[in-house]
Amino acid sequence: MIRLPLLSTVIKNLFKPPATNPFPKTEPVPVPENFRGKIVYNVDKCVGCRMCVTVCPAGVFVYLPEIRKVALWTGRCVFCKQCVDVCPTGALQMSDEFLLASYDKYDEKFIYVTPEEAQEIKKKLEEKKKAKSKSKAQ
Ligand code: SF4
Ligand code: SF4
Repeated sequence: MIRLPLLSTVIKNLFKPPATNPFPKTEPVPVPENFRGKIVYNVDKCVGCRMCVTVCPAGVFVYLPEIRKVALWTGRCVFCKQCVDVCPTGALQMSDEFLLASYDKYDEKFIYVTPEEAQEIKKKLEEKKKAKSKSKAQ
């Protein structure tokens, strides 16, 4: 005798709606709490301690000694969250963002603190320094 133990399940499933999420026609499946998405860097909170440079296993960070900040290329990130855990000021956070496909590996969405931005920060720091020494001299 032929046994077909799955037949009743197959017939039942034929009358049920699909269980898949037809993205991109719909929203993606929501991410859970504490999801590890794209790194977010708040340059103003950074104190240049270099802890993130030390712990990152993927070489995402470059220390910029002139401005005591870091530059990031998140195209290398493996989403391990070690930099977030070690950062003493909360300058690094993990976002919910995970739709990161791009045709350009140096897409600006992967970069924090471009050489131009670093120059801007340097200029501002120098102006601040000048203003401080001026007010001291008065
Ligand atoms: S999450 Fe991990 S791999 Fe990504 S930047 Fe932080 S330490 Fe580096
Ligand atoms: S660990 Fe945080 S404060 Fe220290 S250099 Fe990195 S981002 Fe800046």
